[in-house]
Order: sequence, then C-alpha cells, then structure tokens
Amino acid sequence: PGFADLGLSETVLKAVRDLRYSSPTPVQAAAIPAVLEGRDLLAAAQTGTGKTAAFLLPTLNNLGHVVRPGRDRKRARGRGPLMLIITPTRELAQQIDEVCTKIAARTRHIAVTVVGGVGYNPQRSALKRGCDVLVATPGRLVDLIEQGACHLDEVSVLVLDEADRMLDMGFLPQVRRIVDQTPAERQTLLFSATLDEKAVGSITDLVDDPARVEI
Ligand code: AMP
Repeated sequence: PGFADLGLSETVLKAVRDLRYSSPTPVQAAAIPAVLEGRDLLAAAQTGTGKTAAFLLPTLNNLGHVVRPGRDRKRARGRGPLMLIITPTRELAQQIDEVCTKIAARTRHIAVTVVGGVGYNPQRSALKRGCDVLVATPGRLVDLIEQGACHLDEVSVLVLDEADRMLDMGFLPQVRRIVDQTPAERQTLLFSATLDEKAVGSITDLVDDPARVEI
C-alpha cells in the first residue's frame, strides 16, 4: 500500500510529502491503520525501520480531531500534553523531536522536548507556555513532575519508545512513576527491538488488547 491508502488525513499526507517519504516502510504500513483506529500497540521494530514516523503520523493525525480551543502559543499557555513520548536517550529524543516538529508544522501542534544534561529553566518555561506533544527522557521528566513543572492528566496517547533499552538502562521505576500520572483510559503504544517476555514482560501490562506488529 501507499501512504494514501492507510487512512491518514490530507494534512498529514502533506507532512509525509514534506518528509520526502515515498512509500511506507513495513512497520509503518502495519502500525498506522491500527493506531488510527485507536488500538494499543505492541511493536517489535529497531531503529532504522521507520518506527518514529510509524507512531508520529497516526497519533498526530488523531490528535487533529481533538477540539482544543487555540493551538497557538498564546492560548496554549498552561496546557499539559495530549501525547507523551518517552525514549531512553537524549539522542533519540532529539531525533523524534526533529520528525515531530516537521509533522507538527502541518498539523499545528506544539511540541516540547525535555532531556537530561541541560538546564531546567528553559524546559520549565516551555512547559509553562503549554504544549500538545511532549517528548522526554525518563529521568528528567520525573524531576520536572516532582518540581510541579509538568502535569500529565490530559495525556490521551502514551508512546514508550525503545522500551527494552529503557528497561536495560534501569528506568523501570521512572517509567512506572510517569505512567501512574497519566489517565488509565489512554492509548498506549510500546515499541521495542524485541517483544520477548524477558525484555519487556515487566511493562506489557501497560497496553490493553494491543495490535501486535512484528517486522
Ligand atoms: P527510524 O527507524 O524512525 O529511526 O527512521 C530511520 C530513518 O528512515 C530516518 O532517517 C527516516 O527519515 C527514514 N524513513 C522513515 N520512514 C521512511 C519512509 N517511509 N521512506 C523513506 N525513509 C523513511
């Protein structure tokens, strides 16, 4: 199938053209329709498979239906994210941020990225101005939550990126703390290099009746 056959809106298809993707990768072809339907997802996909767009395109497509008065900067003030993407490293967060910013330019969502190793103040200010999408590494996000700089009670979509690596790095307690702050009725997408019980069994309770994608 082509991107136009997957159920994406005209606006998101414009973003696909901006990104210069001509046809979907296998993980995109499998994941996009299921995510558009609102299903939870368990996806085995490594870096390089196109997994970033596999979760960003359908989720931003769906968030386009959320009626939120004023998506411009001024009126976004104080709004917590509708979508939260947790990823293990700063480099991965930056890669997601790049693709997200390009799609969000079309869908007119506001994206903020928070990672460790840099100052808190610019991130606190960005969160105060409000956002639709938050990309975060686990340690920094827990710090910001504890400081009261970030609230996650409006999150309707949660993405756990490179979940196996996140757990390998010892982030299970932080991931649990974060997920505990999000509404239970959210849509949850879990991406991991492997879906082995040993690798991600400790967090597969976070998805509900998921579509499984293994490429
Ligand atoms: P990812 O697996 O998300 O890290 O993406 C790996 C690389 O594939 C990135 O450089 C993307 O820009 C590129 N990419 C993702 N989807 C497509 C596509 N459908 N067609 C061509 N390139 C793509």
